[in-house]
Amino acid sequence: MKKNLVAIVAVVLMISGVYWFLNQRHHQATSQINTAQKLRVVTTNSILEDMAHNVGQDRIELYSIVKRGTDPHEYEPKPADVSAAADADIIFHNGLNLETGGNGWFTKLVATSHKEFDVDAFAVSDKVLPQHLTTNVNEVDPHAWLDLANGIKYVQRMTQIMQEKDHKNADFYQKNAAAYIAKLARLHKSAQSKFADIPERQRLLVTSEGAFKYFAQAYQLKAAYIWEINTEAQGTPEQMQQVLAKISQSEVKSLFVESSVSPKSMEKVAKESGLSIYAKIFTDSLASKGKTGDTYYSMMKWNLDQIHAGLAAVNSR
Ligand SMILES: [Zn+2]
Repeated sequence: MKKNLVAIVAVVLMISGVYWFLNQRHHQATSQINTAQKLRVVTTNSILEDMAHNVGQDRIELYSIVKRGTDPHEYEPKPADVSAAADADIIFHNGLNLETGGNGWFTKLVATSHKEFDVDAFAVSDKVLPQHLTTNVNEVDPHAWLDLANGIKYVQRMTQIMQEKDHKNADFYQKNAAAYIAKLARLHKSAQSKFADIPERQRLLVTSEGAFKYFAQAYQLKAAYIWEINTEAQGTPEQMQQVLAKISQSEVKSLFVESSVSPKSMEKVAKESGLSIYAKIFTDSLASKGKTGDTYYSMMKWNLDQIHAGLAAVNSR
């Protein structure tokens, strides 16, 4: 009888041991990538793609969903996007209602590709202090990356997640991130005092979408827009009147238009106000590869320089 009991206990222990072992293996397989393969990273847009590339370089496989020059607020994922997302170890999205606002295309994509938020799909903006829309205070404004200090937070978050999923390259990611962050920090520092030489009444940044809240706060400007966010109606008569009133109350010298929206409405504002559009600037997308503005650093540098030159202009009105 005693012998039987010992045998039963031994069998139970053995079964639970095997179960524990299998469970561990499964756990390791899901949270850590295979040592032979590259970390597969998917990003929702080109700005995040460039940040991930700076950290992971040639040791990651990178796929970006919304193509350059295209609006990431509203998007219809293609079959290739779904399969890339399904195969991904990590999917980075901006968060703050960028891809989950409007038609909520990203939430649907996470579900169809059988992924989970905070397990394989991560919002890189989670350490950002959100600003809210003026026209709808219950909604947050997604354009946090236009303040370089937030861009640095995005890179830190990406690096941390890439290190957790891919231990063997953790030091490599750390080293790349440190050098990249130092470069962004230098640009941020110079931007903080860049506009001080322009009279305050001239320091109004007029764009189509109200994408420059974070930027304006970081770099001491005021921002005006035709519509507040790309998911709403664009260029209605009320919106046009409102922006023209703001322009006439200021001494602003130039207007700007973004590379990822239609310039039609801003052209109308230019006609009505007698101001000219100084430059095309970047908000929601990078330029195509090989052109100025094809990296996050280069788009921010271009924006800062063009906005400074346009606002400082003395004779365009
Ligand atoms: Zn936008």
